[in-house]
Formats: sequence, C-alpha cells, structure tokens
Amino acid sequence: MNDAGRAVAPVALLLLWATMTGGAGAQDRYAEQRERMVDDQIAARGVRDDRVLTAMKEVPRHLFVPESVRDEAYTDEPLPIGDGQTISQPYIVALMTSLLGLDASSKVLEIGTGSGYQAAVLSRVAGRVYTIEIRERLGLRAEKTLQDLGFDNIEVRIGNGYLGWPEEAPFDAIIVTAAPEKIPSTLVAQLKLGGRMVVPVGSYIQDLKLIVKTPEGLAQERVVPVRFVPMIGEGADQ
Ligand code: SAH
Repeated sequence: MNDAGRAVAPVALLLLWATMTGGAGAQDRYAEQRERMVDDQIAARGVRDDRVLTAMKEVPRHLFVPESVRDEAYTDEPLPIGDGQTISQPYIVALMTSLLGLDASSKVLEIGTGSGYQAAVLSRVAGRVYTIEIRERLGLRAEKTLQDLGFDNIEVRIGNGYLGWPEEAPFDAIIVTAAPEKIPSTLVAQLKLGGRMVVPVGSYIQDLKLIVKTPEGLAQERVVPVRFVPMIGEGADQ
C-alpha cells in the first residue's frame, strides 16, 4: 500500500507540473531528445570534441525544420527543408563541424545555408560565420530564423557559393554542404595557409573530403561516403 503510494506520487506531481507549464513542458521534451541525439547518434559514433557536442545539445534543431517534420527533428536522418533541399543528418553536421578544428577565434565560410542549422552550430564553436545560399527563399528564411533565435555572429549572403566571399577571405575554415563535382579552386584560394576545408565531392554518391592547405600544396583525406544535394550554378572549374 505504502510502496504503491510512493510510486504514484512522483508521477502525479510530474503530470501536474506538465499540465501547468504547458509550452515549457514541450520545450523540455525536445531538450531531452536533443541530449539523446548527441549521446546515441554522435558521441557513440566517435565525435569527441566537447565544444561540438555542447553546441549540438544547445542549438534547437526543431526550429530549423518545417513544422510538418518538427517531431522528427532529432531522428538519425536528413530532413526536407523545402525547395527540394535537405538538412543533413545530425551526425554528419557534427562530424563536419569537428573536422574543421575550430576555436573561438576562427572565421569560417559555409556554402549552402539551407535552413541555417549548420551555420548555427558553427557559430557556437567559431568566432564568426559567413554563409552563402543560392536559393533566395531559403537564404532569407534562414537569415530570419537565425536572427529570431539571437545568433548574432552569422552573416547570410544570397549568391553563388562557387565565388566564395572574397571581401572576407582568407578563412580559417570552409565547409561546403552541397556537392560539387570537383574541389572548387576559388574556395581553396580563399582558405588560409594551414586552413581546413570539408567538402562532399562527386555526383550521386560522394566522398566527404577533408582538405588541409599546406605550404607544399593540398593534403587530402577521404573521410566517409555521403550523399548531399548537388552544388548548382557556374563554377570557375567547369
Ligand atoms: N547546411 C544546410 C543544408 C544544406 S542543403 C543546413 O544546415 O540546413 C544544400 C544547400 O546548398 C541548399 O540549400 C542549396 O540551395 C544550396 N546550394 C546549392 N548550390 C549552391 C551554390 N552554388 N551556392 C550556394 N548554395 C548552394
């Protein structure tokens, strides 16, 4: 009798609290899913960088996806973000971010703003983020989402990422989140010596490549096969 009473009381209190807090309860539900996403999908697969893991626990991924897929925001999948584009699987966002080796003073360029989620994650581990989106509707929406959520070290530009952002070059790191067929030479030119670039290269199935610019040339490493939407628009190498 007493044992049953002890078991029931906390549940009743929790239900009462959930009813009273309403929206806050819903927020907490996502926070818990976010924690689990990081532990089970990201840390468990070998991403160890604490600053990246913390950023992934803090950035509200559900607010970067359309309402219709909000409840799937923390699953181990890419999700549609409109205009036929997708937001990458959380693990890939974390992996790419950690490969860039960022610190609080880094200046980073992203090609393919999409929803703005990757830019938001970058902004928590880097000093300043510049991000370019070729589809105006997506770029403007991402800019608004980032502003509304108070990310104030990110600049969004609507334009062709193949051109990079010459006024702000050189960058400590460049991340490309749409797949070009070849490594874009204009972007390599905008990378600092010692800088790192992460880019999915290829057409249907691509290789995620980590490129380091050294005095002797480009050191390249194939990290993992991936599938990104194609990088569109004219590139200097075509
Ligand atoms: N990083 C995004 C997802 C990127 S999806 C996020 O976190 O949500 C790839 C994006 O690259 C798409 O939005 C697509 O429109 C954009 N894109 C494709 N080619 C591009 C180019 N040449 N310049 C800039 N953006 C490009």
